[in-house]
Amino acid sequence: MAPSAEEILSKLAQVMDPEIPGLSIVDMGMIGRLEVGSTVEVDLLPTYLGCPALDVIRRRVEEALREYHPVVRWSFEVPWSSERITPAGRAKLLEWGVAPPPEEGTPPPCPLCGSSDTEPQSRFGPTLCRALYYCRHCRQPFEAIKPM
Ligand SMILES: [Zn+2]
Repeated sequence: MAPSAEEILSKLAQVMDPEIPGLSIVDMGMIGRLEVGSTVEVDLLPTYLGCPALDVIRRRVEEALREYHPVVRWSFEVPWSSERITPAGRAKLLEWGVAPPPEEGTPPPCPLCGSSDTEPQSRFGPTLCRALYYCRHCRQPFEAIKPM
């Protein structure tokens, strides 16, 4: 019997983005196309080309869906953008103290106190996906997902 798309999605929701602990690839909006029928096909959208985790993620997806013998591949047809991060994903980022991607050209609000009086600290955060900011209000540095 073929699985339902919901079953597949709930399994995919357990595959975490290795770059951002606690956030699944579903939260990140990385599922491009999902074909559930006699075969299970998953197209994944790479979030940031600089992130070296693509192989890891694909292997985790294959592992999570092993019983369905899925065809998992990276798709570059639809460009991923930080707007694809789901509301649940944004809430989880905030819980982790990481600001969700702000709109282009505006500084992200501080995940600790909510102030928008923030400034970039460094263009390069701990990973290529993240940037460091400083909150002038609570005087704390924090990380934000780079908008893309
Ligand atoms: Zn603050």
